[in-house]
Amino acid sequence: MSRFDLIAFDIDGTLVRHPDDWTVWEVLNKRYIGTGEVNKQRYADYVAGKISYADWVEMDVTGWRDAGATKSDMIEGFAPLELIPGTREMLKALEGTGSRLIVISGTLDLMLNTLLPEHPFAEVYCNHIGFDDAGKISHWQATPFDMQGKETALRAVALREGIPLSRCAYVGDSGNDVWIADAAGFSIAFCPKSEELVAKADVVVDTGDLRDILPHLMDPG
Ligand SMILES: [Mg+2]
Repeated sequence: MSRFDLIAFDIDGTLVRHPDDWTVWEVLNKRYIGTGEVNKQRYADYVAGKISYADWVEMDVTGWRDAGATKSDMIEGFAPLELIPGTREMLKALEGTGSRLIVISGTLDLMLNTLLPEHPFAEVYCNHIGFDDAGKISHWQATPFDMQGKETALRAVALREGIPLSRCAYVGDSGNDVWIADAAGFSIAFCPKSEELVAKADVVVDTGDLRDILPHLMDPG
């Protein structure tokens, strides 16, 4: 049995990894504009309030579009990304426990659907990219549920489903997970890259294998 009625997951760095800990945004910026370094400046501008999150998404996505990105080429570009060991086994173990499994992430839907097309998530909150018939980027929708918004999404789903926050768990790895980790009844920092997250999380699991989070989420026996 699961100890929780709802378990929410981050994607980049939590279920999916890059050898240098890059997010999907850095991977695609490197592919289409030649560098992932712009992410640092755009993040700084976002934190400073100079650009909105939606502005940031638009800057990245239009950069790829203007460089001629297509759906199939973007999927090829995901090659450096891989599922973290134990992802499928961990999700399989949680499926059928009655716990509602969801994603609240700043990732791209195309990446999740490429690396984990058979995912068991009842709901996925992340950034959307749409393509025209020729496979070119035609539109996008920035998620309102990254950063502090992750907490908003968790609270909204819990309220709608009638699940107390004490029965909600969260698994994440980075600075954008701090607010939701604080709001969830129980939070796991998985291979954390943020000291702030470590401070907020109930437990840290840094083995690099997602099967090792199961003892924290399931009742023994
Ligand atoms: Mg992450």
